[in-house]
Amino acid sequence: MKRLFTLLLLATIVAFTPACSHEPIKALIISGQNNHNWQVSHLVLQKILNESGLFTADIALTAKAGGDMSTFHPNFSDYDVVVLDYNGDRWPAETDAAFLEYVQAGGGVVIYHAADNAFAQWEEFNKIIALGGWENRNETAGPYYYLVDGKPTLDYSAGPGGSHGSEREYPMHARNTTHPIVKGLPDGWMHGRDEMYDRMRGPANIKDLLYSGYADAKRGGSGREEPLVFTVDYGKARIFHLMLGHCGPTADNNPAMQCAGFQTLLLRGAEWAATGKVTQPVPKDFPTAEKPSYRLDYKAPAE
Ligand SMILES: [Zn+2]
Repeated sequence: MKRLFTLLLLATIVAFTPACSHEPIKALIISGQNNHNWQVSHLVLQKILNESGLFTADIALTAKAGGDMSTFHPNFSDYDVVVLDYNGDRWPAETDAAFLEYVQAGGGVVIYHAADNAFAQWEEFNKIIALGGWENRNETAGPYYYLVDGKPTLDYSAGPGGSHGSEREYPMHARNTTHPIVKGLPDGWMHGRDEMYDRMRGPANIKDLLYSGYADAKRGGSGREEPLVFTVDYGKARIFHLMLGHCGPTADNNPAMQCAGFQTLLLRGAEWAATGKVTQPVPKDFPTAEKPSYRLDYKAPAE
C-alpha cells in the first residue's frame, strides 16, 4: 500500500511539473522611430525572442517622428531586459529618468544596431552604449576604439563617428571565449549579409569585447578591426551591445537578422542581460568559419 502511494505521489509530481520549470524572461522592445526599417525589425526581434520559448516580449512604440512624445512612459521596472530598437526624438524627461533608474539599479539592456545612433547629446545614454555613431558625433563624443594587433586602441584624432562599407557576408572574430554569451561558440564564423559599423566613437567603456570584424577598406570600410559585439561597463547594469542586424525591406528579405549567428547572439545576450547567465545550448545550425547559416523563418532547429 505504501509503495502504491509512493508511485501515485511520483506520478502526480511528474504530471504537474512543467517541461520547463523557468518562468519566461520578460523583455520589452522599444521602437517607433528609426532611420531604419523599424516597422519590420521590432516585430522580428519579438518573433526571435518569443520563438525561443525563453522570453515573453512586449513592445512599446513611441509616437511617430515629430509627434507627441509626452505620453511615452513604459514601465521599465516591470521587465528583466529592455531591447532598444529606437533612434529618434528625445523621450520625455521623466522617461529618461525612469530608464536611468532602471539601468543603474542593475537592469538588463540590449542595444540593437542603430539604437547606438540615438541620443548623441544625452551624455548618460552614451555611457550606456559605450560607442555610438552618426547624428553629428565627432571627436567631442570620445575616441575611436579599434584593435591593432588584437589590442584595444583608443584614437582621439578628429573626424566623424559612424560609417559602414557595403553590405556583405563577413567573418566574425572571437575576442573572448569564456563569457557566458559566447562560451562554446566557434572562434570564427561567417555572418549573414549585413552592414559592418565602423569608426564608432564614444566613452568606449567596453567591459568585455566579444567579437570584432575587419572593415575592409576595399569595400568602403575603415580598414580597421572594429568592435561589433560587446558588453558595457556601467555600474551594476548588464548591457549587451549588438551592432549587427541591419534590417532588410521585409521580414522575408532580411539576411542580417535571418542569420542564425545574429539570432543566437541576440538570444544569448538578452538572456545574459536579464539574468547574468546563459542556459542555451549552441544551436546545431550555427554558422561555420566558411559558411553563413540562415533561418528564413527565425526559428531555431529542434535539438
Ligand atoms: Zn543599418
